[in-house]
Amino acid sequence: MSMSKSDVIIVGAGSAGCVLANRLTRDPARKVLLLEAGGRDWDPRISIPIGMGKLQQHALYQWGDESEPEPNLDGRRMDIAHGKVIGGSSSINLMAFTRGQPQVYDRWAEDGAKGWSYAEVLPYFKSIEAWEDGADEWRGGDGETGVQWARTTDPIYDAWIEAGKALGHPFTPDYNGAQSWGFGRGQYSIRDGRRSSAAQGFLRPTVTRRNLTVVTRAMAVRILLEAGRAVGIEYRHDGRLKRAYADQEVILSLGAINSPHLLMLSGIGPAEHLRSFDIDVVADLPVGANLQDHVAAAINWRRRSPGPFHKSLRLDRVAFGMARAYLFGTGPATVIPGGMHAFIKSRPDVAEPDIEFMFHTVPPEADVWFPGIKAPYRDGYGIRPALLRGQSRGSVRLRSSNPDDRPRIYYNALSEPEDMRRFREGFKRAWEVGQSSAMDPFRAELIAPDTPPEDDREIDAYLRRTAVTILHPSGTCKMGMGPASVVSPELKVNGIGSLRVVDGSVMPELVSAHTNAAILMIAAKAADMIDSVAG
Ligand SMILES: Cc1cc2nc3c(=O)[nH]c(=O)nc-3n(C[C@H](O)[C@H](O)[C@H](O)COP(=O)(O)OP(=O)(O)OC[C@H]3O[C@@H](n4cnc5c(N)ncnc54)[C@H](O)[C@@H]3O)c2cc1C
Repeated sequence: MSMSKSDVIIVGAGSAGCVLANRLTRDPARKVLLLEAGGRDWDPRISIPIGMGKLQQHALYQWGDESEPEPNLDGRRMDIAHGKVIGGSSSINLMAFTRGQPQVYDRWAEDGAKGWSYAEVLPYFKSIEAWEDGADEWRGGDGETGVQWARTTDPIYDAWIEAGKALGHPFTPDYNGAQSWGFGRGQYSIRDGRRSSAAQGFLRPTVTRRNLTVVTRAMAVRILLEAGRAVGIEYRHDGRLKRAYADQEVILSLGAINSPHLLMLSGIGPAEHLRSFDIDVVADLPVGANLQDHVAAAINWRRRSPGPFHKSLRLDRVAFGMARAYLFGTGPATVIPGGMHAFIKSRPDVAEPDIEFMFHTVPPEADVWFPGIKAPYRDGYGIRPALLRGQSRGSVRLRSSNPDDRPRIYYNALSEPEDMRRFREGFKRAWEVGQSSAMDPFRAELIAPDTPPEDDREIDAYLRRTAVTILHPSGTCKMGMGPASVVSPELKVNGIGSLRVVDGSVMPELVSAHTNAAILMIAAKAADMIDSVAG
């Protein structure tokens, strides 16, 4: 069996893994091996922002998971995309760049994740971003992730902001700054017209570092454990089983579905569950529990006359736009047609924002068109209310002891009655915005739901029929203290030496935002903790 030796092994070159690979190889004396199950991120559709539409439609570069039938969503299974490519989910995501509400991080710290309050993580948020308006008290100006304002000129956006204000929602000039909630202009991890993924920002600059080895299409199948500590990883590569050993530590950054999966396959997880698959129990920990995500539903309307994005989807313009974006990083293919977010309170008496609106200017059936060949689709727009701070919890469980069998994912979405109530309120707030007089110049007929819901029962039925996850799984290797936690505030797996988990799975409570920025921050802080011990 082929073997290699490093100081540190990082498994998973996703959002967190790329940050770690960068930060940990600044010290030329530290030898790091980065293993990634997917391939390179060379497809132009990854780097051109508008290419994400195609990545989504064809489910490219991802693991192809789905949930078990969801009891509160009419027994439907939900698609759970997550990246399988260098850059991980940051290479296929929608690039929204949001930190969320500070109170959530403060609760992490209060509940046992010492050192993770918002004041304590703020320096790391600042360290990972190059905000186009430059550094200030809240923002970073010279980090690795390029962050810019949504570059849209569609007049519908001004109407959307006006609608929010008219309904009494606050406006925020920068939701990643001093005021974290309200209606505001979107921010995206895009730099010079190209996706600023974790791979682009953090991994690419390391190509000349001789102390980093990146192996792609390397599928980790087991953590090698000896006398209660992690000593390496067994992985499949080129059709062969190989072993890599680490002198200092092994770091799992496989994401919130695959990190718990690999831990359980290796004997670290709920004892009874592991025994039912004849897996020897090394540590009895609540791995895979506490799964959280955001669910959202859409309200869509037709638009009176086509907007700028519709025009740019004419076949000849698409081809030209893609070439221009790829070569020069300019033009319409570098602009996301859904540039706005709002973090709002479903009712004025709610303590923290509990609903996010995502505003998009494309109808579900949007596609390339050309006169005489394919008729243009009718333009539309929509608002997607997403439930933040949900109380429902799910789990990731083994399907079998075979690493090739994908785990079972139970979301249990909307299982808490309070979640359904607040999601319904969020739907009503989104409806008010869409139907408001500020939107009159743009709004034609309703597309979805088919007809306006007449009462709460009809709203609930619509939400159960259509809600989907917006792909922020987290929480399955909970950080904290006490028996409900899997990792310590230093992200070390409880009871096992030389093993950390650093990715979205460690969030004790899911952030009230899209998750990429928080996960980059988590990895930057983890690298700092590892450096300070080594130094
Ligand atoms: C379609 C989509 C849209 C999204 N939109 C947004 C958005 O607009 N804004 C936002 O902030 N967030 C968004 N997210 C969420 C965000 O991108 C993720 O939460 C974040 O990137 C996850 O980071 P991670 O490091 O935890 O895991 P990932 O980035 O998923 O990385 C895990 C890596 O580990 C690798 N891996 C897994 N198993 C193995 C194994 N056994 N062996 C070797 N390698 C392995 C994977 O291939 C992957 O590369 C979106 C996610 C998706 C999927």
